[in-house]
Amino acid sequence: MILVFAETWSGQFKKSTFEAVQYAAACAAAQGSQAVAVVVGPASAPVESLGAYGAHKVLHLHGPERFETALYAALIGDVAKELDARLIVVNGTANGRALLGALAVRAEAGVISNVTALPESYSPVRVVRGAFSSKGIEVCESRSACTVIGLVPNALGAKEASGSDAAFEDRSVSAPARATVVEQQLASGTIALPEAERVVSAGRGMKAPENWGMIEELAQVLGAATACSKPVSDIGWRPHREHVGQTGIQVNPQLYIAIGISGAIQHLAGVSSSKTIVVINSDPEAPFFKAADYGIVGDAFDIIPRLTAALRKHLN
Ligand SMILES: Cc1cc2nc3c(=O)[nH]c(=O)nc-3n(C[C@H](O)[C@H](O)[C@H](O)COP(=O)(O)OP(=O)(O)OC[C@H]3O[C@@H](n4cnc5c(N)ncnc54)[C@H](O)[C@@H]3O)c2cc1C
Repeated sequence: MILVFAETWSGQFKKSTFEAVQYAAACAAAQGSQAVAVVVGPASAPVESLGAYGAHKVLHLHGPERFETALYAALIGDVAKELDARLIVVNGTANGRALLGALAVRAEAGVISNVTALPESYSPVRVVRGAFSSKGIEVCESRSACTVIGLVPNALGAKEASGSDAAFEDRSVSAPARATVVEQQLASGTIALPEAERVVSAGRGMKAPENWGMIEELAQVLGAATACSKPVSDIGWRPHREHVGQTGIQVNPQLYIAIGISGAIQHLAGVSSSKTIVVINSDPEAPFFKAADYGIVGDAFDIIPRLTAALRKHLN
C-alpha cells in the first residue's frame, strides 16, 4: 500500500498535491497495489475528488486546525503503520519538507528527499534524486520496510484529472495544538515562488528598486511569480522571500526568465532544474548564457517593455 500526504492550503488542494497523488498512484500501479491519500485538517474541496488523480481511497483526519510538523508526522506516521505502507509520498513544499524527517522517525521508515523521478525499483526502493544543490543526481536505495519519498515540486507535473471519485473515510482524531497563530499577515496578489510554473527573476542589473515595476508587469502578463538574486534581497530592493539560489528558495518552474543576473554558481544552484531558461543580459559573456535555452543580449530597460507589450498582444 502506498500512502500520500494530500496537503491543503486554505482548505483547497494544491496543484502539488495532485502531482503527489498521481506519483503515488503510478507507484501503486507498478506494484499492483493501492494508493491511499491522507488529508489532515479542514478541507473545503471534496476529498473524494482525489480519486480523479488516481487515489483509490481518501482518509480524512479531522481535528488539527493548522499544519504542525510533529502533530502531522504523528498522525500520518500512525496511519502508515496501521496500513502497513511500503511508501509514503510527500511533496517537497515548505510544509512537506518540514514533515519528511519527523514522519520518517514516526513511521520507522527510510527517507529519500529531492526525488525527481518514479522509482526504478521497489524492493528495495531505488530512485533518482537531485544532489549537490541540484547540480548533480544520485541514485538512492532504501532497504527499509517503509520509505518516505520527498518529491521535488513540478518535477513530473500534474496531468489533467481523468479518473473517478475515490472511496473515502472520515476520522476524528485527537489533535492537541502545541502552538497557536496569534497574528497572520499574508502577502496578497503574489504567486507562491516554490511551486510557480513561471518565474520572472531579476538581479543587480536592474540598478534600483524603483525599476521593478517593469519586472512585475512582465510577471503579471505571464501569470508568473517574481524572484531575485541574493544581493538584491540583501540590500533590501526586494523581500527575502523572493531570493532564489543555494541559500534561498529552489525553484523548478516550466519557465525561468533571468534579467540582469550574472549567473553565479550559487544562483544557478537554485534555478538550474527549470525546464526552460531565458536569459536577458547586456553582457554577452555573462555566465548565465551557458545555462540558457534562449538568450537575449541587450539592455533590459529597452527589452523588457517591448517583450511585455509583445506578450500582452500575443496572449490576448
Ligand atoms: C556562500 C554564498 C552563497 C550565495 N548564495 C546565493 C544565492 O542563493 N542566490 C544568489 O543569487 N546569489 C548567491 N550568492 C551570491 C552570488 O555569488 C552572486 O554574487 C550573485 O548571484 C550576483 O547577483 P546578480 O547577478 O544580481 O548581480 P551581479 O553579479 O552584479 O550581476 C548583474 C548582472 O546584470 C547585468 N546587467 C547590468 N546592467 C544590465 C542591463 N541594463 N540590462 C541587462 N543586464 C544588465 C550585468 O551584465 C551582470 O551580469 C552567494 C554567494 C556566496 C558566497
